[in-house]
Amino acid sequence: MTLLFKVDNDRGLAWKNLFQRHAPDIDVRLWPDIGNPEEIRYLATWQPPPDVHLLLPNLQAIFATSAGVDQFDLSCLPPRVEVVRMLDPGIAQAIVEYACFAVLALHRKMPGYLAQQRQRQWHVQPWVAAHQQRVGVMGLGNLGMAVLDRLRAFGFNLKGWARSAKQIDAVECFAGTQQLPQFLGQCDILICLLPLTQDTRGILNASTLAALPRGAKLINLGRGAHLIEADLLLALDSGHLEHAVLDVLNDEPPAANHPFWLHSGIWLTPHIGAMTQPETAFEVLLANIRRHQQGQAMIGTIDRTMGY
Ligand code: NDP
Repeated sequence: MTLLFKVDNDRGLAWKNLFQRHAPDIDVRLWPDIGNPEEIRYLATWQPPPDVHLLLPNLQAIFATSAGVDQFDLSCLPPRVEVVRMLDPGIAQAIVEYACFAVLALHRKMPGYLAQQRQRQWHVQPWVAAHQQRVGVMGLGNLGMAVLDRLRAFGFNLKGWARSAKQIDAVECFAGTQQLPQFLGQCDILICLLPLTQDTRGILNASTLAALPRGAKLINLGRGAHLIEADLLLALDSGHLEHAVLDVLNDEPPAANHPFWLHSGIWLTPHIGAMTQPETAFEVLLANIRRHQQGQAMIGTIDRTMGY
């Protein structure tokens, strides 16, 4: 059974060591040293090589090394190749940390206090209790649920929105495009944790941002293309939105003259929300390969028609 990794060198070696130690029956190869391509059954990568189905004629599954698969051109892959996203518990832990950091910073008005400090101002802003702060999560999947689980402990007034209806303890849930305006109207802090698909591209736009309450804050942890950047600038500059924390952008890194760099209403981080760690992801990947070998369904297989 042969598994090919197409990842950066250091990570490739870390993966290979883990397999050698814990699953020596699996022959691990590191791109570009693929050996006989006909032997390769599995590929783990962020981005498959072009014409992967021609290059690897017996490929049965592609494991994304990321939680999202929006970077894959699914139309090029034959139906026999299953596409599985990464459900690394380390990713969920890191996204929870980032979301909690950003929500708490916004809840406790840190952007304003940091600006005050630079102006030598000692001024107390009006207090908002956690139960009065409405925090909404777009995307109630693996990551959205993990974030809500942790935010619940702070006592925030929690909302959630997904494609299908859900029941989540202490979270008021909304579903589908019809209930989107109702959901948005109740989010003082909005966190985007959606996958990027044809339905969610540009979902953070002039009309959805306008549906948020005045003074709302945005945290984008999904993908840059969820956000229409010009619309965010207008919403911030008009005072409708108060602040945005963005981990992902359309172009990463943004151009030197990108208006977000120096905008006082924006905090930017260079897509550091989470990164797959071989140490925490190994068990998940191996368990899926074993399931596949035994003819069982793999966990995290995406629905090609939905794109996630
Ligand atoms: P999941 O597939 O587990 O969950 C996706 C959620 O989004 C589901 O609840 C789904 O609804 C909902 N959804 C999908 N399409 C729509 C739609 N059109 N309208 C409403 N809801 C929709 O994904 P994960 O939680 O694992 O990951 C989410 C995303 O987070 C990734 O795709 C990636 O883009 C991003 N990410 C960012 C990282 C970073 O470093 N910033 C790191 C890791 C991931 P339903 O439940 O009804 O199917």
